[in-house]
Amino acid sequence: MKKIKILILILGLAGRSFQPYHKEARLMLGTIVEITCQDRAAITSAFEEIKKIETIANNFNPDSEISRLNAAGKIQAGEDLFNMVRESLKYYRLSEGAFDITVGPLASIWKEKIREAENNVRGLTLPAGSQIKKALSLVGSDKISLDDNSSFISLTQSGMSIDLGAIAKGYAVDKAVRRLKESGVRSALVNAGGNVYCLGKKGSRKWRVGVRHPRKPAEIVFYLDLENQGAATSGDYEQFFILDKKRYSHIINPKTGWPVDNNISSVTIIAPDAATSDGLSTTVFVLGKEKGLELAEKMDGVEVKIIEN
Ligand code: AMP
Ligand code: MG
Repeated sequence: MKKIKILILILGLAGRSFQPYHKEARLMLGTIVEITCQDRAAITSAFEEIKKIETIANNFNPDSEISRLNAAGKIQAGEDLFNMVRESLKYYRLSEGAFDITVGPLASIWKEKIREAENNVRGLTLPAGSQIKKALSLVGSDKISLDDNSSFISLTQSGMSIDLGAIAKGYAVDKAVRRLKESGVRSALVNAGGNVYCLGKKGSRKWRVGVRHPRKPAEIVFYLDLENQGAATSGDYEQFFILDKKRYSHIINPKTGWPVDNNISSVTIIAPDAATSDGLSTTVFVLGKEKGLELAEKMDGVEVKIIEN
């Protein structure tokens, strides 16, 4: 009886490893989200988790939880919003303010400029110093108050706004992976616009993920071989504009109000989960090489790859 059971188990495992992989891609979280695994129903269910996070963190939807928080200045948050904000405050503290989700007003100004450039608006100019100064006065995560007991989040200065763009994709990937595991999946790749998690192996090998060259879009600059690890890349090449030969990207230095300008074109982080890689890649990008590496070295299971201009 025992032998039969073992045989069935072995056949079961072998059966699964020979099943074909399915890959499904959807436009979500403002990017392309891809899930690859051997169970189609599990993929559908994992996408539901990603959708949930999109519904919470989408600044462009006035009904999203984050938009309601930004409009009212306070909210009794659901578990996911609360977790994302709490996690973000961790990076704020660790980075002494380089990672700061209250960059919302600044991010809006610079993203508007990026949109204008994409639409070839004539006579593109830099934002006025006074506009940046005003937005800067609304920045500072020490002005966010969190109440663990009531799950209340309050923004203590009127006009503040939170932007979860630097952490939501990684968080969503982790949620999707959790759902895949609950569905019995042991081998999968989830990729939300360069924020990935590799569950198990693909067959007998680790999952292989290519990272784009920051200046040559058709080239892969290096490959990562991952197993039960997350990875994320923050770069100045996805959302940016160039004016008078200078590049202005979507990652903002919260101390100056201007896009980060520190000779780095991309930072890739490998970490035990996708939220950590997402949060940390943005953090190291803003901190710069020296301070960024110093911080990453203190964290368990973290590897950093920096590409300089
Ligand atoms: P990522 O691509 O993960 O590095 O995140 C970049 C996005 O995070 C930007 O598009 C902004 O929405 C937001 N962001 C920009 N600068 C910062 C910053 N210093 N700290 C936290 N979030 C930021
Ligand atoms: Mg990030």
